[in-house]
Amino acid sequence: MARHTEGHRTNRVGWLRAAVLGANDGIVSTASLILGLLASGAASQAVIVAGTAGLVAGAMSMAAGEYVSVSSQADTENSELDRERKELADDPVHEHEELTNIYVRRGLDVELASNVARQLMAKDALGAHARDELGISETLMARPVQAAFSSAGMFSVGAMLPILVVMLSPPAMQTLAVSLTSLVFLALLGALAAKVGGAPIVKAASRVAIWGALAMALTAGVGAIFGVIA
Ligand SMILES: [Zn+2]
Repeated sequence: MARHTEGHRTNRVGWLRAAVLGANDGIVSTASLILGLLASGAASQAVIVAGTAGLVAGAMSMAAGEYVSVSSQADTENSELDRERKELADDPVHEHEELTNIYVRRGLDVELASNVARQLMAKDALGAHARDELGISETLMARPVQAAFSSAGMFSVGAMLPILVVMLSPPAMQTLAVSLTSLVFLALLGALAAKVGGAPIVKAASRVAIWGALAMALTAGVGAIFGVIA
């Protein structure tokens, strides 16, 4: 049966990657919001209140989004496992054949593949099918609550940065300070994510920083336009 594709594996976001993405989003969205307000000429107090409201709204939206997406993924995995469990009980011979074919496609000869399938199934039939047929491994099993807390928490950490910078810097320096610190932290996070994932570090860091700069420039532009109109 060819009903399983490799596709559902790639959209599974590990908690560490979700955490880095969360912090990233927190910095980009809150720094952009703050720069827009600063460009409109809003007072520091209003900027800090809006930034904090943005932090809470963003964190909740991250938590809800992550929870929904990871739970629906967990539901899919569980129903796939249930179906596999039933198939194993109903027709173990066919299931052995199925696993054998998978190993043959990966390069084993039929006899060896059949042996490997039999021995793996004797130890943990569902585990062997989950891994090699469905592409579900224990470490990748979706954890919705963990994912929700992790991305909301990391979004808040990221969002705190530009808010603190506004609080701590003199009004004349706020725009420059928020832009620079945000870009530096975005680049560091990009580099960290790349290092963890084994991707090219400079490329990843500059990609994140460029998108962050674009977001901040656009919202600052919007703020400046409204500042002129108001
Ligand atoms: Zn199977």
